[in-house]
Amino acid sequence: MLELAPSIALLALALQAPAAPAQDAPAAPKEAPSQDAPAAAKDVPGEPPAGPKVIEGAVNIYSWGPDDRSKAVEAKDINLRKVFEDLGPVATRWYQHALTLSNPFFEGRAPGLRGSEVAAEYLEFWMKDMGLEPAFPERGTDGITPKDGPWKSYRQHFTLTGGAPKVEEASMSVAGGEALERGKDWSVLGISGNASIEAPVVFVGYGIEEGQDGYTSFEEGTDLEGKVAMVFRYEPLDERGRSRWATRRFSEFSAMTDKVKALVDRKAAAIILVAPPGARDGRTALEDVATSRWGRPLDIPMVQVSEAVAEGILGRGMPGGGSLMDWRRKFDEGAAKTVALGDGAKVAISTKLSTGGTPAQNVAGVVRGKGKLADEWVIVGAHFDHVGFGYFGTAPQYTGQLHPGADDNASGTSAMLCVAQAIADLYGGKDAPADARSVLFMGFDAEESGLRGSRWYVEHPTVPGDKVSMMINMDMVGRLRSDDLSVGGMKSAKDLVDILRPAFERSGLTIRADPSGRGPSDHASFYGVGIPVAFIYTGNHDDYHTPADKGFTLNPEGAAKIVALAVDMVQLVAMRPGKLEFQGSEGATPDRGYAGVRLGVMPAMGGDEDRAPGAPKGVLVDAVSADTSASDAGIVKGDIITAWNGEALDGAGAMMGKLRGHKPGDVVKVKVWRDGKDVELDVTLRAAKPKE
Ligand SMILES: [Zn+2]
Repeated sequence: MLELAPSIALLALALQAPAAPAQDAPAAPKEAPSQDAPAAAKDVPGEPPAGPKVIEGAVNIYSWGPDDRSKAVEAKDINLRKVFEDLGPVATRWYQHALTLSNPFFEGRAPGLRGSEVAAEYLEFWMKDMGLEPAFPERGTDGITPKDGPWKSYRQHFTLTGGAPKVEEASMSVAGGEALERGKDWSVLGISGNASIEAPVVFVGYGIEEGQDGYTSFEEGTDLEGKVAMVFRYEPLDERGRSRWATRRFSEFSAMTDKVKALVDRKAAAIILVAPPGARDGRTALEDVATSRWGRPLDIPMVQVSEAVAEGILGRGMPGGGSLMDWRRKFDEGAAKTVALGDGAKVAISTKLSTGGTPAQNVAGVVRGKGKLADEWVIVGAHFDHVGFGYFGTAPQYTGQLHPGADDNASGTSAMLCVAQAIADLYGGKDAPADARSVLFMGFDAEESGLRGSRWYVEHPTVPGDKVSMMINMDMVGRLRSDDLSVGGMKSAKDLVDILRPAFERSGLTIRADPSGRGPSDHASFYGVGIPVAFIYTGNHDDYHTPADKGFTLNPEGAAKIVALAVDMVQLVAMRPGKLEFQGSEGATPDRGYAGVRLGVMPAMGGDEDRAPGAPKGVLVDAVSADTSASDAGIVKGDIITAWNGEALDGAGAMMGKLRGHKPGDVVKVKVWRDGKDVELDVTLRAAKPKE
């Protein structure tokens, strides 16, 4: 049985190259709703919100997602052609874009993939088709788009640094045997350095310098020079494979950073990591470069092997000396410390990693303004990238699977193109406004890697920040349910809700007007530099960041309503005499809320639900920007920053406050909670990039 909206799914499969109906823009809004509109009906708990209205209040974007109350219809009763004629040209065009961009041909649009380049071509094609002007100077010889120069290109090229390192070359073998298979028998870890070694192995148990009750894995003066250290993850386990030192998961003594330090301090020539057999908790699968960046890259190779390979090394280095489980038990008891294996287990490891400079690009076009407002701007944006084959940004069980990213964010990108069509037609048509701000339509790249495209744009803007009246961001707008829509940023400019209310009311939707200008999407980059923002979002769902986020799950009828609303919002802001006045909702100062220094972390937006149980208060790090104070200090995604120079931090606001009190060069003692333990790091604060 199919539901109405999804009944279009059949079309989705057939429509890969749909013949779209005429491309006329949604009709310009006639007049404001009459004063005697019926009184807003009351909300009944458990029932869909009663009729269109504006509900002001915070929306937790991770947990908010309206129920879908559309009625189910038998597929055989659907005349798809009639459905689309009823839905109209905008819904049809939007759906064509969204199905196309979420087609597997686009490979999940991760930066660096062919599919990402094809997506950029697709956006440029349509921007040219709509008559938008180029928005960027030509690319430089270094492959990067400069800030200055005549606008001749639709692309702003930049390089994603600091992303997960890339393994350029790597090989491993044991005692001259067959080369092991990477990804199956072994993997290169993200913290690994570049080197080639061949050396005997020393099994160092759990590699713990100082554990509970004086436990240590090392004899006095253990020297690992010229040796490969094979080390177990985690810490001594009991018979049932549970930690002997923690009631839940593992204690702070199992921290990877400490193990690595203990082995590097003893001059190990390389490190081989093994998951202890029979461990009940923790990860057993091979890590990859993206999931094992436990601090600054080493000067020696660090790899992980499967249990079978470790068993093989043990068997060759100490024939009859016991199995991996036998040794685990000895290390559990503290009955053994380090065990030198014979030459029969010499391993040869060679690793060569590059700091992964991944090419990326924003794609944008301009609808030139009119009259006396023409040199001021409205920006309409959406990220067109997604997580590709799930090597980052998804749950481990989906690693390697295609993530089509239909709602996230083929939907927003398609809506941005449809809004561009409407505004271009309006500005170029017979009802063109006399005075209107210019509009920049932009597809951001690398949002999933930490808002990198929008950050790059605000740090390399082609439109001066103080000329921008507002930035409208559309991220996940493809699943409108019960006409219930979230619009964030509503406190980022003075009287913003009232300024936009006519559009909200004309939309016929229930608008959840969320005050915050922050959040894990591109509007946060603009808010961060003091530009008023609006963040349009239809809510979370179970397919978020999974291979199931496919085109046929989308709702073109809802999207058409959202496009009409966005077009209305653009008009209201682009044609009103006054430029919006920025205001920070969480103490962001009107002076663009910028501290003189920058840490370089992206706080997670969500509440406690995405923290490990028992995790302390503090700033949960959602992303670390490359080449910043944070990446230098080795702060990584997932860390919780709990203290700042010894003072407890209860949230991002407090941290922003701290940052404002610092100047470049200040060294701060930052405590982070990682893998169940507190790690203290010295952070040297760098200057924030000066604003253009
Ligand atoms: Zn997104």
